[in-house]
Amino acid sequence: MSSLGYANSIVNQEADAIFTQIERGDAIYDYQVYRDYLSQLDNLITKADIERQMRLSRARCWSFDIYEQGQLTKALSFVKHALTNPELANYPNHKLGLQLCQTWYTERTGDVETALKGYNKLLKKAYALEDLRLIADIRGMRGYLYSFQGNFTQALEDLITAKSLYKNLKLSIYVEINLYEIAKAYRRFGDQKSAIRYFKQLEELKKKSKNYNAATTMVVSMAIAEEELGNLERAKELFEKGYAYWQSKGDDLLRSGVGVNMAGTLIKLNEIESAKKYLTLAVPYIQSSDEGFYSYMQLFFAQVYLAENKLEQAHESLALARTAFERNKNTSALAQVQQVESQVYLNQGNWQQAYLAQSEYIKLHLKLDDKLLSSYTTEMRTRFNTEQVEQENRHLIENQQLREIELAMLEQNKFQQWIIIVLGGLITIILSAFAYKQNQKNKLLSALALTDDLTQLPNRRYIYNHADECLQAAKRCDMPLSVIAFDADNFKIVNDTYGHEVGDMALKLLAKTCRKTLAAEHISARVGGEEFLVILPNIDKPQAYKIACNLVQQVAEANFSSFPCGFSLTISAGVACLGDDGDELHTILKSADEALYSAKHEGRNQARMAN
Ligand code: GH3
Ligand code: MG
Ligand code: MG
Repeated sequence: MSSLGYANSIVNQEADAIFTQIERGDAIYDYQVYRDYLSQLDNLITKADIERQMRLSRARCWSFDIYEQGQLTKALSFVKHALTNPELANYPNHKLGLQLCQTWYTERTGDVETALKGYNKLLKKAYALEDLRLIADIRGMRGYLYSFQGNFTQALEDLITAKSLYKNLKLSIYVEINLYEIAKAYRRFGDQKSAIRYFKQLEELKKKSKNYNAATTMVVSMAIAEEELGNLERAKELFEKGYAYWQSKGDDLLRSGVGVNMAGTLIKLNEIESAKKYLTLAVPYIQSSDEGFYSYMQLFFAQVYLAENKLEQAHESLALARTAFERNKNTSALAQVQQVESQVYLNQGNWQQAYLAQSEYIKLHLKLDDKLLSSYTTEMRTRFNTEQVEQENRHLIENQQLREIELAMLEQNKFQQWIIIVLGGLITIILSAFAYKQNQKNKLLSALALTDDLTQLPNRRYIYNHADECLQAAKRCDMPLSVIAFDADNFKIVNDTYGHEVGDMALKLLAKTCRKTLAAEHISARVGGEEFLVILPNIDKPQAYKIACNLVQQVAEANFSSFPCGFSLTISAGVACLGDDGDELHTILKSADEALYSAKHEGRNQARMAN
C-alpha cells in the first residue's frame, strides 16, 4: 500500500489538466477531440501510476460513439474486461464509475429494466461513498430514463437534484444538459409554464456562449409549449423568429420543419392563407421518410382544405397523414385526424360517416386518457413510497452545503404531489364525461335515425336532443340561446302545381341553403314535412333575427335554374330565445311557432320575433 501511495503522489500536472478537461465535459460533443485527449494521456501516464490508469480506464469507457456500427458491442466488452482488474478493489469510486458506464450502455441496448435496477444499486453505493459527482451523474441518467418511461415526477426529482449538484461542482456543461432534460420532462408532464421558464434560461445560456443554433432550438421549443398553453400569438411570434433564423442560415430542412409547426398555430388562429403558404413552401424539403414532419404537414394541409371547402383534397391529405401516424403509433395525432375527418364529412352533409369518424375520435381519446390515467396512478403509487427516497437522502443531509438544496426539493415535491392529485381528479372527471357522452351517442347511433333521408339534414329526433343539450349548457354558463322555426310558404300549392318530385327538390334546396348560409355550429334540422328548426347557441335574439332575415332572403333569391320555368319558393320564420320567450325547450319552441304563425299571417316571406 505504501508504494502505491507513493506512486499516486507523483506530480503529473499535464495529465491532470487533461483529466480536468475531460471530466468537466469539454469534449463531450466531439468524439475526435475526446479520443485525442485519451491518446495524450496514454503517453503521459506510466504503467506504475495505478490510480491515473484507473482514472484513464474510466474516461476511456465513455469514448465509444454508439451511433457508429458495432461500437456499442465494443463498449460493453471493453467495460466488462476493465471491471475484472483486481486493483479496482482499492478504488471503489473508479469501480462505481465503470459500473455506471456499463449500466448506461446496457440501457442503450434497450434493456431498460436492468439499467434501472443498476442505477438504483449504484446510487446507494455513491451515497455511501459521498461521491457528489457520481451521485449527480447517476441521478441525471436515471432521470433521463424515467422521463423516457413517462415517470415525470421521478424524472424531475432526479434531474433537478443532478442539476443542483452539477451547479455546486461548477460543471456548467452538465448543468445545461440537465436543464434541457428538465424542461422537456416538464413539457411532457403538462407543466408548460415551468418548461418555458427553463427553455428561456437555456436560450440565454446558449446565446451567452454564442451557440445560436442551440439557442434557436430553445426558441422553437418555447413556441411549441406556448401553443400548448393556447398562447397562439406568442407561439406564432417565436416560430417566426426560429423560421427567420434558419432561413438566414440557408437550412431548408430545419426552416421547413419550423414552418410546418407554425402552420398548426396559424390554423388555430384562423390564418388559413398564411398557414397554406408555409406548408406549400415546406413541401419540396419534407420527404415522406421524415415521418414526424410529413405526417403533421398532411394533417395541417387537410385542415387548410377543409377551411377552403376542398373536401376531396382534405380526404386525400387525411389518408396520407393517417398512414404516417399509424406507422409511428401517434395516437393523439390519429385522434386529431378523426376529428378533422368528421368535420369534412359534416361539411359534405354525410352525417353517418361524420358520426362514425366522431365516435372513432372519442374511442381514441378514451384510449389516450386511459393511458394517461394509468401512468399517473403508477406515479402516485411510487411518489408516495418515500422510504427509498429518504434512505437515499440521509447521506446528503449530513452534508451541510446540500441541506438547502434538499429543502428546496421538498417544496418542489409538495408542489408536484399537488399537481398529480389535481390532474388525477381532473382526468377522472374528463373520463366519466367522455364515457357518459359516448354512451349517449352510441344509443343514438344504434337507433340510426338521426339523419333525414331526403335532405341529409339531422332529423327531429336529433335536433331536439341537441337543442336540449344546448339549452342546459346555456343555462349553466348563463349564455344566450336562440332558435329559428321556419316553414315553406304555400307548399301545398307548390306540390299541386309542379308535382311532388319538384316539391322534394325544393326541400333539398332549402337544406342546401341552410348549409350554405349558416355557421358550422348553427345546426339546422328538418322537423316535419316542410318545417325546419335551427338552434343557435350563444346567439341573442336580435342576432338571431338577423340570421333569420338573411335565411328568408337567401331562399327567395336562390338559384332556381334547375326548376321548372316560373318556379319560386319562399319561407316564413319565427325567432325565439331563452329567457324572453321561455325557460324550457317546449316553451321556447312554442314561442318560435307563434312567431312563425304571425309571419305567415302578415303575408309570408318574412321573419318575426316572438314577443
Ligand atoms: P303555409 O304557407 O301556410 O305553410 O302553407 P302550406 O301549403 O305550406 O301549408 P300546409 O301545412 O297546409 O301544407 C304542407 C304541405 O307540404 C302538404 C304536403 O303535401 C307537403 N309536404 C309535406 N312533406 C312533403 C314531402 O316530403 N315532399 C313533398 N313534395 N311535399 C311535402
Ligand atoms: Mg308550409
Ligand atoms: Mg307546414
